[in-house]
Amino acid sequence: MTFLTNTLIVIVSIIAMEGFAWLAHRYIMHGWGWGWHRSHHEPTEGIFEVNDLYAVVFGVFAMGLFIIGSLYWAPLWYIALGITIYGLLYGFVHDGLVHQRWPFRYFPKDGYLRRLVVAHKLHHALQSRDGCVSFGFLYAPDPRKLKARLRASRSE
Ligand SMILES: [Zn+2]
Ligand SMILES: [Zn+2]
Repeated sequence: MTFLTNTLIVIVSIIAMEGFAWLAHRYIMHGWGWGWHRSHHEPTEGIFEVNDLYAVVFGVFAMGLFIIGSLYWAPLWYIALGITIYGLLYGFVHDGLVHQRWPFRYFPKDGYLRRLVVAHKLHHALQSRDGCVSFGFLYAPDPRKLKARLRASRSE
């Protein structure tokens, strides 16, 4: 039973993280946190960008949860595990598949991974803080809908 419960906590945490990431990207990074995130919407020189500090912050946060969880409350440890798995999936899709920050070339040609890549490329259609579409990472709406929304926000 414990194994099942813990697995469930991990899965729910991963799903909840997509919601949290959407909100953070939409309202923090494209809001008061734009100062760091802007670097990700502009051409970069070098390997790192200021926006990577967000990954560091979330990493430290997850590490804190691991420590508190192992000391005081085990479910928190599994929540931290879910957050970490989400971080790895996010890194694979966002930094790997979309932005190709790995030492080889691989673009998914079809399927859901392809849809994720197209959706996030549409997020980068604008370099500005406002008017962007598609703030999620592991879930993406139909690219045709995103394109329509993008056109609508451009003609405003
Ligand atoms: Zn963005
Ligand atoms: Zn991006």
